[in-house]
Amino acid sequence: MKIRMSMFAAAVAASGLFVSSAHAQFGDAPAELELRQVQDDLYVIYNDFVPGNVTVLITDEGLLLVDNKYEIDYDNIVAQLATVTDQPIRYVVNTHYHGDHSGGNASMQAVNAEVFAADNARVKMVEIGQPGLPNVTIDDHVRIYVGGKAVDLYQFGRAHTDGDVVVLFPEHGVLAAGDMFTYGENVPQLIDYSGGGSARAWPGTLDSVLQLDFDTVVPGHGDVTTREEMSNYRDETARLASLVREMNGQGRSRDEIEAALRAEFNWADLHVQLGLDGLIAEMR
Ligand SMILES: [Zn+2]
Repeated sequence: MKIRMSMFAAAVAASGLFVSSAHAQFGDAPAELELRQVQDDLYVIYNDFVPGNVTVLITDEGLLLVDNKYEIDYDNIVAQLATVTDQPIRYVVNTHYHGDHSGGNASMQAVNAEVFAADNARVKMVEIGQPGLPNVTIDDHVRIYVGGKAVDLYQFGRAHTDGDVVVLFPEHGVLAAGDMFTYGENVPQLIDYSGGGSARAWPGTLDSVLQLDFDTVVPGHGDVTTREEMSNYRDETARLASLVREMNGQGRSRDEIEAALRAEFNWADLHVQLGLDGLIAEMR
C-alpha cells in the first residue's frame, strides 16, 4: 500500500498531473504567466489555476523566489524576471514537494541558486526521485538575509503535506503561504495524505501561521489576498473536517461523504484521489 501511494505521488510530481484525468493535464505545456507587483521590490508571477504562484523578492544582492512552478515554466519565469531586474536568482524556497511548486529546482541550481525546503519535503523528493533536491532543509525556523532584507521561513506542522513551509517578508507584512492556503472556488483544500497531509492538524497549523505579523497573503494558487481571507479559509478547513467526522458518526458511506465534499467544498477528482480515504480514516 505504501509503495502504491508513493508511486501515485510520484506520478503527481513527475507528470504534472494536478487535476483529474477527466480534465486537461497540467505541466505538459508552459503556463501563461503574469508578473504582478505586490510592493516595490516584491512581485508575484501569477497564472490561472495551476501551477502555483511564485513570489519574488528583488535585492541588489540577487533574488529570492518562493516556489518555481513546473520545469517547463522555467524559461518564462526567467523572461518575466528580466522585465524588472537583471539580478540573478540566488535563493529558492520550496513551500512543499509538489512538482508544480518545485519543478524548476534543477534549472535554478544550474545557475547557482540554493534551494531551501522542509526536512520532510526533501525526504519526499528523494523518495519519488524528483530532480533538483533542496540544498538546505529547515525544521522550525530559518531567517535568510539577502541584500540587507530579512526573510523568515517557518514550519509549524502538518496541513497540505507534512513538509509545508510558509515564508514571511517581515518588512513588507507579506506572507507566501504555499498550498496551506489556496484562494478561489476552483482550488479548495487538497489534503495529500500520501505526502503526510492532515485535515485534523490543518486548522491548528493555520492558527500558528496567523500569529505572525502580516496583512497580505500570496496563496499557493489564486490571487493575492488578505489575512482575513486566510482566517476564513482556516474556519472552512475546520468545518470540512467536522463534516466528515459527523458523517462518519452517522455511518454514512464513502460515496455519500464524497458527494458532500464535492457539493459543499467543490472537491474535484484529484481531491478525492489524494484525500478522501485518508480523510475518512483520520476523522473516524
Ligand atoms: Zn501542493
